Amino acid sequence: MIRFRNFILMASLLCLFSACSVPLAGPDVIYQTSTLHALLEGVYDGDLAVGELKGYGDMGIGTFNALDGEMVVVDGKCFKVPASGKVVEVPDSEKTPFASVTHFDADRVLVSPSVDSYETFSAWLDQMIVNKNVPVAIRVDGVFEYMKTRSVPRQSKPYPRLAKVTENQPTFEFEQVAGTIVGFRLPPFLNGVNLSGYHMHFITADRTGGGHILNFKAKDLRVTLDPSAKLHLVLPEAGAFARAALDTIDQDELKKVEQDR
Ligand code: ZN
Repeated sequence: MIRFRNFILMASLLCLFSACSVPLAGPDVIYQTSTLHALLEGVYDGDLAVGELKGYGDMGIGTFNALDGEMVVVDGKCFKVPASGKVVEVPDSEKTPFASVTHFDADRVLVSPSVDSYETFSAWLDQMIVNKNVPVAIRVDGVFEYMKTRSVPRQSKPYPRLAKVTENQPTFEFEQVAGTIVGFRLPPFLNGVNLSGYHMHFITADRTGGGHILNFKAKDLRVTLDPSAKLHLVLPEAGAFARAALDTIDQDELKKVEQDR
């Protein structure tokens, strides 16, 4: 009897620490905290520290508490592109209300043709992606003839809606700049969870500039794809998220806040 009980205990412990738990991180898992819809509604504070986020992935995008700039996670480092445009590496203690990361594997490598806009690039990549019904993590490296990004200024409470903030978003333009794009392509049925279609951020090779991508021109880019069928979504259990009105999403507002104007 005692032996049997020990076996149960052992099995439960094994279950806790190994196979029975759902992996938060690993190959082809995208870890995301909160949703873009919540951000749209002004939920700008979260409890997840950057140090913990980096444990769930070495590449990704997001923002910081109080909507303090654009997040770029690349090669295991987390950078912030604040409204000033002056990039800083973020301490592990800083927190995020919304971010998605993955342990990036270069499952497929492509070389882009000459593209004269973000739209042209997206249309080309759409043709290359075999399964458009699962999220795809994307990393792009190269020299960009032109790149236009934006950031968002840090907000104070009471927080305005995201659409109000982006009415006056600072934008940045670069020419002949070497750098890296990181981000994701999400299928339309995940619209609102994140941005459906392409949501990508840029950082220069010297890590001095970047932001949320609005447009670019380039050719011969090294495009690496990591299809990721597992999406681990962790929602805040309390705070502003619990009180936010998330029943219906304003699709026009969502498009407006994430695109060029
Ligand atoms: Zn963004």
